[in-house]
Amino acid sequence: MKPKTTERTEPFVSSRFSSDYIRKAHEATFANESAIVHSERCTCFYCGHSFDPSQEEKLHWIEEKPPRERTLRCPMCAIDCVIGSASSFPIEDPEFILACSEAWFGGISRISDGKPVEKLRYVDLILD
Ligand SMILES: [Zn+2]
Repeated sequence: MKPKTTERTEPFVSSRFSSDYIRKAHEATFANESAIVHSERCTCFYCGHSFDPSQEEKLHWIEEKPPRERTLRCPMCAIDCVIGSASSFPIEDPEFILACSEAWFGGISRISDGKPVEKLRYVDLILD
């Protein structure tokens, strides 16, 4: 028998979450300041980092065009695809996170290759 390869050729598709649902989840990562500050947990769909926004030393926001709210950047990887528990999406369900990650990043996200995430240093990224 041929040994099972660990390389995935097909993108992960979850049967539990429709593409419509995933698209709505994507919208919740944009201009999400009020949802984030009311969330007890947040998860990043790019790197899989899960955190409590009230415990973060500093939250990094992207300014959106008013009257839109600001968009949160992940404290771990700085990508703007963080979703909060207040959005009512199942942000602590690994299958949901993976389904979103695959849908948006098409297998190139940090969690789809299973590699650990290195924390970025914001001092390198932010000029002020
Ligand atoms: Zn991240």
